[in-house]
Amino acid sequence: MASKQAYKTEVWIDWCPGCGDYGIVAAMQKAFSELSLDPSNTVVVSGIGCSSKTPHYIYSNGVHTLHGRGITYATGIKLANPELTVVVNAGDGDLLGIGVAHFVALGRRNLDVTILLHDNQVYGLTKGQASPTLGRGEKTKSLPAPNIQDPVNPIALALASGYTFIARGYALWIDHLKDLIKAAIKHKGAALIDILQPCVTYNDIYTADYYKGKLYKLEEDPKWDPIVSSNTIDEIEDKMSKAMSKALEWDPKIPVGIFYANPHIDTLEDRIAKRNQLFTVKPPARQPIARNNGEPLIGPEEFKKIFSDYIIKVVG
Ligand code: SF4
Repeated sequence: MASKQAYKTEVWIDWCPGCGDYGIVAAMQKAFSELSLDPSNTVVVSGIGCSSKTPHYIYSNGVHTLHGRGITYATGIKLANPELTVVVNAGDGDLLGIGVAHFVALGRRNLDVTILLHDNQVYGLTKGQASPTLGRGEKTKSLPAPNIQDPVNPIALALASGYTFIARGYALWIDHLKDLIKAAIKHKGAALIDILQPCVTYNDIYTADYYKGKLYKLEEDPKWDPIVSSNTIDEIEDKMSKAMSKALEWDPKIPVGIFYANPHIDTLEDRIAKRNQLFTVKPPARQPIARNNGEPLIGPEEFKKIFSDYIIKVVG
């Protein structure tokens, strides 16, 4: 298993000084360490954007993929080897703009993957254009005119899409975020943490000063109970509607913490495993590739035949 020292920050981090991404990486390192995740069985996947540099700074397997496609890579990785812990880091533009169809599909499938949404309301890497979470009428410093589109609410969208663990954290509350990341990874199913993350260079509205005094923790209310326990329709409806009303709170107070969790829904990999029992098919990473004596199951001659049959069939 990984030692606690294994999750360390490398020295070449190139985010702007003061960027909230530092807090997110620190929270991930603490969470991974406290969960004693084995780096060789952990994969951090990202798309494109400032946030998507995260896999470079985490001591584990990492894949820095295409814009908006972090979830698709994560899906392939998790289905190929369901024993891996898979985490996706992506910005609000990446996940809720170009990648929004994959964001919705992950909820419907309830694949056991954790999504860390770096929510700074701008496209930081490309100089601060309005992202899908910036409100209508808001003008951050590099916009020539106020934003004319309405924002997406990530918590509400995740609830509507079927995510079974939904939380919001704050990049500068590192220990609180660390606890949310641990809970999300331990949850079996699609987990979203919407992480409010100041972009100190391009977002002069949602700054650390803005959040100061506005954020409050849901769990400070002793009556707040977001976890579905009995899995009855009545309980699910009640907890989802309470989560939705909290999702719509913003100013003057912004809730953080766990909004909703339902551990009773089977995951996509469980559903596939059940179906595959009928055909005795194993996930790709669990299929044998060699005989006991080390010879590959498919030798060069068989491979050539398969390949030439394929060429004849497909190319003609
Ligand atoms: Fe962070 Fe914004 Fe700088 Fe990107 S542009 S590294 S999000 S502060």
